[in-house]
Amino acid sequence: MQKIEKFIREIEDFPKNGIHFKDITPLLANPEASKLCLEKLMEMIGSEKIDKVVGIEARGFFFGTLLAQQLDAGFVPIRKPGKLPYKTIAEPYELEYGLDSLEMHEDAIEKGDRVLLHDDVLATGGTARAACKLIESLGGEIVQCNFLIELKFLNGIQKLKNQHVKTLLKY
Ligand code: AMP
Repeated sequence: MQKIEKFIREIEDFPKNGIHFKDITPLLANPEASKLCLEKLMEMIGSEKIDKVVGIEARGFFFGTLLAQQLDAGFVPIRKPGKLPYKTIAEPYELEYGLDSLEMHEDAIEKGDRVLLHDDVLATGGTARAACKLIESLGGEIVQCNFLIELKFLNGIQKLKNQHVKTLLKY
């Protein structure tokens, strides 16, 4: 796992004071480390049958699409408001100050679809919880919430109590 970890760059005070940002761009830029990372993420999924991989804007799209290809599943983007062109459903979630919202196309998931949710970082868990609500509101069955990195001290897992959460790297 150190082979992957050394390609995660820590940026202090980005995007604002007090945040230790986990920058995965060095990992994406290195083909060997990216391939290894994809292999390890696939190992976390095991032999589960997955119909759709849902990735959260924007860094959940990178490995999310790669996972979808490997799993022979469709890929579904969850985006910030106003970015998706077709009819959407929305779910609000709390930020440190105020509210934000996530959107998904209303026909992106079929009832009974077995869904893998993927994002780069699990921090406070608010984003992933809102994403789970969107998936479940369309009748998707969430098989696993899959993350590259978990910031354990923020206890985001608490917000995903009813989900199977798997993370490659824990800080
Ligand atoms: P949260 O809702 O607090 O769990 O935040 C998770 C979302 O914010 C993910 O989509 C991450 O990409 C992003 N995020 C939160 N904290 C960080 C961090 N320290 N480094 C990189 N991305 C982060």
